Amino acid sequence: MIRLAFSKLLVVIILTTFSQIIKCQTTGFYNPIALPPSISGSFGEIRSDHFHSGVDFRTNGKTGFRVYSSEKGYVSRIKVSAVGFGKTVYIDHPNGFTTVYAHLDGFSKKIAQYVENAQYSLRSFEVELFPEKNEILIEKGEIIGFSGNSGSSGGPHLHYEIRYTSSQIPMAPLKHFENWKNTDTSAPTLNKVYIYQIDSINYLIDSTERKSLKFNKNRNNYQVVDTIKAYGRIGLGIESYDYVNENSNRCGFSEISLKVNDKITYKLSLDSFAFAETKYVNSIIDYGAKILTNEEVVQLWVDDNNKFSGLNIDKSKGFITIENNKVYNISIDIEDHAGNTANLKMIIKGFNVQKKEISTISSKSTLLEFNKEHKISAKGYEIIIPKDALYRNLYFSHSMDSTNKKQPIYRIHNPKTPIHKRFTLRIEPNSFYYKYINKLYIGYINGKGIEFVDSKNTSGSIEASCSKFGSYTLLVDTIPPQIKPINISNKKNLLSESKINFQLIDETGINTYAGYIDNDWVLFEWDPKNEMLTHVLDKTRIKPNSWHTLKIEVSDKLNNKSEFSCDFFW
Ligand SMILES: [Zn+2]
Repeated sequence: MIRLAFSKLLVVIILTTFSQIIKCQTTGFYNPIALPPSISGSFGEIRSDHFHSGVDFRTNGKTGFRVYSSEKGYVSRIKVSAVGFGKTVYIDHPNGFTTVYAHLDGFSKKIAQYVENAQYSLRSFEVELFPEKNEILIEKGEIIGFSGNSGSSGGPHLHYEIRYTSSQIPMAPLKHFENWKNTDTSAPTLNKVYIYQIDSINYLIDSTERKSLKFNKNRNNYQVVDTIKAYGRIGLGIESYDYVNENSNRCGFSEISLKVNDKITYKLSLDSFAFAETKYVNSIIDYGAKILTNEEVVQLWVDDNNKFSGLNIDKSKGFITIENNKVYNISIDIEDHAGNTANLKMIIKGFNVQKKEISTISSKSTLLEFNKEHKISAKGYEIIIPKDALYRNLYFSHSMDSTNKKQPIYRIHNPKTPIHKRFTLRIEPNSFYYKYINKLYIGYINGKGIEFVDSKNTSGSIEASCSKFGSYTLLVDTIPPQIKPINISNKKNLLSESKINFQLIDETGINTYAGYIDNDWVLFEWDPKNEMLTHVLDKTRIKPNSWHTLKIEVSDKLNNKSEFSCDFFW
């Protein structure tokens, strides 16, 4: 009898569990895109100056796939931007989550109408709208737009996020989808292993030496070939990728942990993080290697001013201090978002060598403490580094190179050193430049050319807020933007056209643009990556089968202006 009761209980338990699974499936999130599960970017992946805040669903290199709402709710925010996420919809759901759909090509009819009304009333292509709660209601699985490549997107895809509505903190989203379960069965791949010799001086001048380590692979287990001989303070670095399935791109890992003699000393988890802390990525990776060789090496130690919430460390902060003749068993675990793991093992033996510190500190550099503001004045320029901008204390150097007397170059420390907050650079123009005082800007000299930095004239000096160290110079822009008509000319019959296109070209970048048909403002969409300004002809806005006037006004970042006008028939 007891036996029977037990088996009955078991049936009840099985049934309950089963119904919970069913329930889970029906309450699971609806796929935002109706394509086989495939991503080209994972959550937390290392990107330039940030961790990726969502997943990138592949769209077969094409735009225009229907995008569906994952849950019922209401549209809480819509953003149209020429850069960044491009056209984006945010939906708040009753379950406490917000889903985000970015780089869209366009919106569903009811959202598009709402956006266009706002664009015409604000006379702006770029808008950020916060509809009232329940103003635009959305059903689970409702089409909210179409996948695209808008904003700063590098190719057609859907960028998708799940955030906690209350904090807007994003999380790894794929676990919310039934059809993603069991699609990722391969463990992360280890690409490179480095050992860094962190001598006190090298570390302070940011020229730490590193050595690549050879390793063997046996399935998901890696072993460094030789016993490593080391001394003093060292750190380890690894480069690792994850492939979600056979048609996925190279994606990122979810967690890395370092064990020294069976004790975890460092752990990095990328399951969720706040947008305000995403720039810490530059202190987590070997930033110099990223800049120089585009490697994405995670340094398994933590700088003093790195406050990223996904880090868990003991008092060693991930550094390993190697003592003579002692043996250190190192084990590194790498996990992906589906829980697949890889492991690396190595043995380090203390080997005392009397090595002189080779690096010396230049007499021109000064030690800056990260937790203080620094004002550095020199002849012709000034630098202000705010408190907590540096990731750690370091010897800072700067100089003015006047080889080209007309156009000096300002070398502000080292492009390999990351910075968390922007610093102010103020340059006094020399007599040659002074006559252009209202057309001057600061440019950042990178390997390929010069990047425009938003600059202003403050009582005779040119000031810019700069996000990276390296070489800067002053430049003049007096040349107005070029407006190149693509499919329109004066007196042209446009009856066979649905759009009007212009190419806008400018050295510093387009600041404002406006188009008028028959003297009324009309919506022109601006796509800076393709330098394309587009108006979709609309018979509800202008009278069809008649003559019209068109005027285009464009200005660049230094307020140089251009105009174009013509008549056309449509
Ligand atoms: Zn993305």
